[in-house]
Amino acid sequence: MIEVLSLGGMESERYADVLSNTARAVADEGVSEASAALQPIAGEIWMGRLTTASRAGEERAAAPPRLRNETLRAQVFVRDGFRCTSCGGRAVPRSILVAIHDLFPDLVAYDVHYTRGKIHPVFWALAPEADHVLAHSRGGANVLDNLTTLHAVCNTRKSDSLVSDSLRAAPSSPNDGWDGLTSLYPALISAGAGEVRPGYHRTWSRRYEALMS
Ligand SMILES: [Zn+2]
Repeated sequence: MIEVLSLGGMESERYADVLSNTARAVADEGVSEASAALQPIAGEIWMGRLTTASRAGEERAAAPPRLRNETLRAQVFVRDGFRCTSCGGRAVPRSILVAIHDLFPDLVAYDVHYTRGKIHPVFWALAPEADHVLAHSRGGANVLDNLTTLHAVCNTRKSDSLVSDSLRAAPSSPNDGWDGLTSLYPALISAGAGEVRPGYHRTWSRRYEALMS
């Protein structure tokens, strides 16, 4: 086990590279061959502390109601090109990270509450959240125009206020080919993730497929 105590932008990009190689290897070669591609980050465990209301556990339960409309969340990520509008780095939807966990449970730990000591740091570093531009607590609505893509870790660095215009204007690169690994999601499902949580992965992969077509 390798303990990870903090995350910077470079880590997000490194994780995105490793997971891209891994997902590609699953699709092209198979799960056992792909574990070699995952080795650079295998067994890491998040042991850091994050200091906002979106922390896991009881703080999360006390936080304002989270966005329930999952299709709307997916629309936000697709519109933003699966990039964090705070740091500009690549994002990978949580369901796809869960699929990688399902294929490599001993190498990439997952905990639904993102609890330190129980989860691989890729979830904090890469999973996007649909965050309100005008905070929900200030009357911001759950609509596409008021939502923006932030890495879970970047969301914890932002105060409960407006995302500044400069952050919102971060270059989205819809033509750079990055798709959040959605095109490889079906391969991860048929390689075995679909046997672990069939309904969950079927729902999320169809949702992205519909939005990306
Ligand atoms: Zn970010």
